[in-house]
Amino acid sequence: MKNKMFKKLALLVTGAALSATLFAGYQQEPAKVEAAQKPIIIQGPMPIEAENFAQKLEKVKVEKSGTFVFYKGKLNDYPVIVVKTGKGMENTAAATALAIEKYKPAAIINQGTSGGHDPNLHVFDIVLGKRTTNIGSLKTTHMSENEGIAPTKWIPMDLMASEGSGSNPDAEKIRYYEGDKGLLAAAHAVKDTYTKGKIVEGTIGSADFWNNEVDRIKWFHTNYGTSVEEMEGASAAQIAAAYKVPFLGIRILSNNKTNGGTYNPGTAEANQEYVYEVVKQYISDIQKK
Ligand code: SAH
Repeated sequence: MKNKMFKKLALLVTGAALSATLFAGYQQEPAKVEAAQKPIIIQGPMPIEAENFAQKLEKVKVEKSGTFVFYKGKLNDYPVIVVKTGKGMENTAAATALAIEKYKPAAIINQGTSGGHDPNLHVFDIVLGKRTTNIGSLKTTHMSENEGIAPTKWIPMDLMASEGSGSNPDAEKIRYYEGDKGLLAAAHAVKDTYTKGKIVEGTIGSADFWNNEVDRIKWFHTNYGTSVEEMEGASAAQIAAAYKVPFLGIRILSNNKTNGGTYNPGTAEANQEYVYEVVKQYISDIQKK
């Protein structure tokens, strides 16, 4: 009996001593505290849209998964991960889900080039995605053989409408993903650092589609309110929303068919320069909280 009690006491004392040592160790090691900081994810589809930013990071470790490349590094001592997602909605959705599961990010920015839908926007102007929407999810009207094809009559189809199928009126609404307010505030705060064009809030439309028909572009601009089109933002926004991770799309115009703006790949680097300033600002904002 006495022996048992003694054993219990000895265990308790050892346990307390062990946790005290561990606690002291934890306090002395800031690296462990840092590890608790949630990283910020910056996505870019093509090499020219990701590698520039990745080069700006410090202490970079490269991780690969499938075709996705994760450049894990530091910016002002804060963890930032640049992800080269590859082009299009599928690559982006998968890379986003993977990044969220792997790294539990504080926020996601999807950035890169885009094509203008608004004739007032020019190559090198930047759109902050106050809203992002899928412009490739559509339902056609009913037409019989030899009645042709009528794209201007096509109806938006909300893939996230919870119930029903073709007959559910909710499924015919355009779903917009709102840009995160904190990220938007950081983007506005550093607007003046960008001198190559103007920066406006707008609507980003995404689909695995490159539209070169001006009337089709106008149709989206009128019916969806799109400022620009690209091939990734809405899929990242959809997955970020599913996990409740703050999200913002930031897109530079590399071309604009509505006003003769021809494709300039140099815009990709300019956008990353600006997004770098946004991320620095966002880091300082969240550290003040
Ligand atoms: N000329 C480039 C095109 C790349 S495909 C090349 O051949 O390498 C399109 C990529 O650029 C996508 O990642 C998309 O997000 C972006 N993009 C830029 N302008 C676009 C536009 N007008 N329509 C659709 N995507 C566009």
